[in-house]
Amino acid sequence: MNLGSTLTKVLEDVLVESIPRPIALHEPEVTAEEEEYVLKCVKSGWLSSVGSYVEKFESELCSLTGAQHAVAMASGTSALQLALYALGVKPGDEVLVPALSFVATANAVAHCGAVPHFVDVDETNLAVDPQLLARHLSDIATQRDGLVWNRHTGRRLAAIVPVHVLGLAADVFAISRVALDFQIPMLEDAAEAVGTTINGRHCGTLGVAGMLSFNGNKTITTGNGGAVITSDSGLAQRLRHISSTAKKPHPWRYDHDEIGWNYRLPNLNAALGCAQLKRLDSILERKRILHQNYKKAFEPYSCFNLFNEHKNTRSNYWLSAVRISGISLDEREQILTECHAHGFMCRPLWTLLPDLPMFRTAPATSLNAARLLEREVVCLPSGPRLAISSTE
Ligand SMILES: *Cc1c(COP(=O)(O)O)cnc(C)c1O
Repeated sequence: MNLGSTLTKVLEDVLVESIPRPIALHEPEVTAEEEEYVLKCVKSGWLSSVGSYVEKFESELCSLTGAQHAVAMASGTSALQLALYALGVKPGDEVLVPALSFVATANAVAHCGAVPHFVDVDETNLAVDPQLLARHLSDIATQRDGLVWNRHTGRRLAAIVPVHVLGLAADVFAISRVALDFQIPMLEDAAEAVGTTINGRHCGTLGVAGMLSFNGNKTITTGNGGAVITSDSGLAQRLRHISSTAKKPHPWRYDHDEIGWNYRLPNLNAALGCAQLKRLDSILERKRILHQNYKKAFEPYSCFNLFNEHKNTRSNYWLSAVRISGISLDEREQILTECHAHGFMCRPLWTLLPDLPMFRTAPATSLNAARLLEREVVCLPSGPRLAISSTE
């Protein structure tokens, strides 16, 4: 049997007939609870960026993650952009990011006028490989005037942004040690990792700050939205200031002391987010069951290797994904065509960022692992509604 039909057969087994086709990669789950919260918000008249739901959402994000502060923003991209900006990333700087990520990671760097510097990833957790990073930095980094520079490009190395890919935890304990050694601030892109922990610590809390996303296809959603989490009160205060209109507090005067972005999350979206957060445990539990169902179903097929959480980490299993070692790009496209024909909206990983036209001239390490993963990984439908527990 060819790989495409084997995969669709496994998917037919896990995603039983009673689930209507086509099955999206990840659908938001919205219940009467969300409707009630949003309606209450509409009736309150507080629809814009000030309101009690924004405060509630931020404080609940703190409880969830253990961060001291959360600043809700209009998207994950804007949250990451402002976090980089507030950390002092300037036009002409370089920011180390993985070559394998969603485009938003590199876009946020570019929005600061900085240049992404792409690094290779670890084949087992899809994230920045701390050993490779350390070796690469030993090669290129040099200290001058209390700052860190890329000796090849002459640009300042202003930050490192590891990404927790598909909700699997990156080895941020090791990456943060490397970042500390080279005195480069680490900012975690935890957009895909709401609910993922490492040694009990929530993703996004190991560096100076972390970013979460609440886009419609993420684990929980505010429609569109994001947040910066941090335990640095100065940074949080500054983010609050510049993500609004940078107005000096006063009952009626319009005095602004710098250029503000107006990137805050509207109260209406925060209301949706509060209801989603209330149901996060249930969503995570069912995504775990779905992942277990995939695990069982793929067991007989050694050509399909499911990505599982590493020891001491707990994944939110945002997207379950399999690696099909040795396949060509053509074979991958055939497999995806067959999946789609059966109503399974599987997706590959992202085209490597340095291959996109806007980042083609950016510096990069050799990308052996990232290139293999780009070709060999297929992401599977992973919404919480798809979990059929074995007792049903
Ligand atoms: C979703 C995502 C973002 C942010 O996306 P927004 O749609 O702007 O919220 C950033 N990085 C990664 C890796 C993502 O998956």
